[in-house]
Amino acid sequence: MSPTVFSQLDKSLHDHLAALVHLSATADDPTAADLARTELPRVVAALRALLDEHTPDPHGRCPTCRTHRSRRFSRKLPSPCRAYLGAQLALTVTAETPGLHRHVRTAV
Ligand SMILES: [Zn+2]
Repeated sequence: MSPTVFSQLDKSLHDHLAALVHLSATADDPTAADLARTELPRVVAALRALLDEHTPDPHGRCPTCRTHRSRRFSRKLPSPCRAYLGAQLALTVTAETPGLHRHVRTAV
């Protein structure tokens, strides 16, 4: 895949996600409900596909991220996978959105 094709795909993905965020914030309730029913499972599926690549081993180490670290470092420090951590933070720390506070938990 050429870099140009990839950057177009990347842009359209980001445009799609931005449109979802915009619509969920601005659309009327029936439209927002439709949006959630059709798009939320797709977004969850995409997130799961990404996290599948970052499933920690029994020691809590991520086989995908581990390849990018030095062996010494990963042996010393079974640090949490950044992809998992990022997803966890993004999903549980919902800023100051009214009505979403029940989802806010203390980060790991
Ligand atoms: Zn990882």
